[in-house]
Amino acid sequence: MKISVIGCGYLGAVHAAAMVELGHEVVGIDVDAKKIAQLAVGLPPFFEPGLPEILTSAMATGRLRFSTDISEVAGSRVHFVAVGTPQKPGSYAADLTYVDAAVQALLPHLSEGDLVVGKSTVPVGTASRLAGIVEASGTGATLAWNPEFLREGFAVKDTISPDRLVYGVAAGDLGEHATALLNEIYSAALAAGTPLVITDFATAELVKVAANAFLATKISFINAMAEIAEVTGADVTQLADAIGYDSRIGRRFLGAGVGFGGGCLPKDIRAFTARAEELGRGESVAFLKEVDSINLRRRQRAIDLTVSALGGSAYNAKVAVLGLSFKPHSDDVRDSPALDVAVQLHGLGAKVVATDPQAIENARARHPQLTYATDLEETLRGADAVVLVTEWPEFRHLDPDWVGNLVKNKIVIDGRNSFDPAAWRSSGWTYHGLGRP
Ligand code: NAD
Repeated sequence: MKISVIGCGYLGAVHAAAMVELGHEVVGIDVDAKKIAQLAVGLPPFFEPGLPEILTSAMATGRLRFSTDISEVAGSRVHFVAVGTPQKPGSYAADLTYVDAAVQALLPHLSEGDLVVGKSTVPVGTASRLAGIVEASGTGATLAWNPEFLREGFAVKDTISPDRLVYGVAAGDLGEHATALLNEIYSAALAAGTPLVITDFATAELVKVAANAFLATKISFINAMAEIAEVTGADVTQLADAIGYDSRIGRRFLGAGVGFGGGCLPKDIRAFTARAEELGRGESVAFLKEVDSINLRRRQRAIDLTVSALGGSAYNAKVAVLGLSFKPHSDDVRDSPALDVAVQLHGLGAKVVATDPQAIENARARHPQLTYATDLEETLRGADAVVLVTEWPEFRHLDPDWVGNLVKNKIVIDGRNSFDPAAWRSSGWTYHGLGRP
């Protein structure tokens, strides 16, 4: 099928290439000319495992092209909208400017029977408003909402073989038409048994924000337990193991540490609270404000632990910060706890040297005041303290003896509870975890 993807960021670029992998013909559109120039020659504008490979193979088929010219969507039957929905400056609400602009830009190029499919994460009520705009355009096109659940770092796999598919569609014939087109697009995943939920617009929009709210709550729950562990001498990692054996709870997303970040969870829970307040139901999700506060406190805890381990002041201390991206296997530094910790320590007068396998350039673009090193030895050499904030495998598997030979002081703050405290202590380190004795 001929498809267009509007917005070629972390979501859209992967979606465009993956749709070719599924047999379709795709044009990817973005307003960012630099991004499009890179994609057009098969170069991903960001780091995502597996994307270079599927981009190369998709380009080789001749069924994938990229453009900044929206008129190139003409002839596509389905138009995915994958533009950003960031937090509005000075507010918790989502900024829908980009989604609105993308739909408006599409209108003149739509034909009878075309389907506009929202993939961006939006406040409940957006799809029905946009469906009204598309239907009123007189083009004969219709709209569906098909929220995206991909995880950065696993985006290619998650797009080609999702855990589930959700279609929010209109009632009646329009909905049946939308369902038929989406079923055709996702026929491979459906044939492989991917669960499918076909529902109304509001439910589809809410599924996405509810899923993110649940995941954020699970992380903040274990981080709240970490705070209690810290005043009682308990070990939150053992606690997480023990409660995680209960299949109703499960161990995943119970990693206590500096908390969640990225371009989704933080802004999505804030947008959810803002939308619930608009709907007069603020109290229903008021707990998400607590989830957010707990999350932000854990970054501060890592900073406080570092300062106290340095004897009460970070001024002039060389601090080696391991990690900048909000999670491993990604170069995304949007709302990254790791980058936040590095910036705040720098603000306290520490001589921060930060490293990351993929995120240095993105971090430097936002915070040029920090010192970055691509070389791990250079990062660690002469350090007064080592702070682990993103659990990349190359950091998790560090040998404490090897690190010990490079640093000045054997002080480690393990912001992700990734190291084995016994191994580091027996190598002579003063080890500080989050929520661990
Ligand atoms: P992103 O910032 O990486 O990409 C958004 C892209 O849209 C940018 O390249 C931007 O230039 C482009 N854009 C903006 N306005 C445009 C317009 N009018 N026409 C064409 N292109 C336009 O953001 P992202 O991480 O890809 O997220 C996109 C949406 O998907 C958000 O709503 C996000 O919440 C949701 N989402 C993201 C993920 C994820 O892991 N990144 C997962 C699920 C859902």
